[in-house]
Amino acid sequence: MKRLGIVAALLGILFAVPSTAVGQATAVGQVRGVYWATSGFFGPFNIQDLIPTVPKEKARNITIPISMWVIDHPKGLVVYDTGNNAAISDGKCKSHWAAGNCEGLKPSQKREDVIDAQLKKLGHSPDKVKAVITSHAHLDHIGNIKLFPKAVHVMQKKELYQAWWPEKFQRAGDVFVMGDFDGPARDFNYLELDGDYDLFGDGSIVILSTPGHTLGHQSVRVKLASGRTIVMAQDAIWMQENLDGYPAGLNYSVKDYTNSVHRLKMIRDLEGADLYFGHDQDQYKAHGGKWHK
Ligand SMILES: [Zn+2]
Repeated sequence: MKRLGIVAALLGILFAVPSTAVGQATAVGQVRGVYWATSGFFGPFNIQDLIPTVPKEKARNITIPISMWVIDHPKGLVVYDTGNNAAISDGKCKSHWAAGNCEGLKPSQKREDVIDAQLKKLGHSPDKVKAVITSHAHLDHIGNIKLFPKAVHVMQKKELYQAWWPEKFQRAGDVFVMGDFDGPARDFNYLELDGDYDLFGDGSIVILSTPGHTLGHQSVRVKLASGRTIVMAQDAIWMQENLDGYPAGLNYSVKDYTNSVHRLKMIRDLEGADLYFGHDQDQYKAHGGKWHK
């Protein structure tokens, strides 16, 4: 009898989820919220510096976010991308990056913008992060994985290859910074993926293979408890202009990049998802710096 009471109490809790969640797989698997943060900003610079295909009449100066995401799942806290390395904060860029990138990208990161400080601001200890998903190994996305030695690090296996020995044409831009992932990071606990992956096995956080920008780029789709679906493209789609048909520069493979843009667009349209880009000034202004529920 006592046990039945406990079961009933548990069921009561389970049934107490919002009515919008009816029809979802399980209450336990639902994501409570997704926070959109930025690791400072890049710019201002001409959009054509990043997207050479944008025609002159559409050119403009942009100051762009460096998107990072905190996902609050009942099974644990997840961080998707860790931004620029803490060392480049407060005007000290040249201590960690090649001078050309400091001058070209013009990072404005302050120490309080770094992912560990952002987590603390949200009331979370960085030590409690269960999984760190890294979209790709460029300097503005993998910069602080060393702040999470206890987490499971989720990356495409090909991207790990790419990080430690990039193709020569991609090495030229100094966008893979060995100091971001050398030393102790070699011995981290990596979940090495080859394609899509359902992170907690409940369909709520799904890693989507979106190569092209780099060899092993990956995006993330989250199903929230509210019934909303969010797709975080990161650098599979930098900004709106890429969706408007102007391909980004710096691609490992333009063909794979185009297929990945198309894949994310189809998911957006079929699932009625909100599709968020990695570096879109206007989108971040409208939707960034807050929890999505
Ligand atoms: Zn980026």
